[in-house]
Amino acid sequence: QSKARGRNGFFLFTEEMNERISQRMQLENDLRRALKEREFTVYFQPKVDLDTGRVSGLEALVRWVKPDGTVVSPGDFIPLAEETGLIVPLGEFVLDASCKAMQVLEGVGCSALTVAVNLSPIQFGQDDLVERVMANLERGGLPASRLELEITESTLMTDVHSSVAKLDQLVEHGISVSIDDFGTGYSSLYYLKTFPISALKIDSSFVRDITEDENDAKIVETVVLMARTMGIDVVAEGVETREQLDLLASFGCATVQGFYYSKPIPLEDVVRFLLGNEGICSVRR
Ligand code: C2E
Ligand code: MG
Ligand code: MG
Ligand code: MG
Repeated sequence: QSKARGRNGFFLFTEEMNERISQRMQLENDLRRALKEREFTVYFQPKVDLDTGRVSGLEALVRWVKPDGTVVSPGDFIPLAEETGLIVPLGEFVLDASCKAMQVLEGVGCSALTVAVNLSPIQFGQDDLVERVMANLERGGLPASRLELEITESTLMTDVHSSVAKLDQLVEHGISVSIDDFGTGYSSLYYLKTFPISALKIDSSFVRDITEDENDAKIVETVVLMARTMGIDVVAEGVETREQLDLLASFGCATVQGFYYSKPIPLEDVVRFLLGNEGICSVRR
């Protein structure tokens, strides 16, 4: 009897495994096809400078628009794209699209905006990362000073020595680097002085309850103060309400990003957003 149960258990297990493996293979095939068929697109989310009330830059966020029109979020395909190496061509696509978008925006008078592109650990780990990015910028006609790369703490900490070397090279070329999802990984003061970082992006998980949770508020206030002392900009992610915004402003946080101003939107909507708000490239607070 116990044998039968065992066999039964084993059978169920393999069936579930098979199911998962075939789903994964399906998704991998879909991803390859999507790259070939150009089903990926890039949305942009404005970052707003609280001192001037103007949009200072945009973050590029990739989307997969399936032939039936469904929009798939990166959380659902980036992990597999990383595992399969497809993140490399996908990342180049995002950078290309970002360069093109900046040219379109220049055409409507927004020539001072920067664009922030997320870099996966796999991309950052490539030996020729800097050459690839520079070649990409050259192809796209975007000055290096208008590109920002967003890298997470854990990516940087994988190999501190080589990270420092790469960041130094990027910075020498005029590209700025910010730490994404700050506070969720190895938050160490050590790397803040070791890495040539221009901004910290405080993770939305700290911002979410900032008006109710005193600990979160204190953490954010302290991070802002620390960063300012070190001459590093702070961007608060996931700002959804006026109350969060006011509190962040009172802490001296210079830049915010979140649904309060805008969700990530297609380029056409970015143009409308920038032109529609109190003069070119500015928004009302
Ligand atoms: P991230 O870089 O931390 O991007 C911020 C995420 O927060 C975005 O999710 C954005 O839509 C979301 N967000 C912004 N404001 C708000 C808000 O007020 N409320 C809430 N609830 N969410 C907000 P998204 O676009 O789904 O991207 C998720 C993650 O996927 C990104 O996190 C980034 O790590 C990754 N990702 C996106 N695009 C790329 C890409 O082109 N390359 C790579 N390597 N990773 C990417
Ligand atoms: Mg980011
Ligand atoms: Mg982030
Ligand atoms: Mg995040």
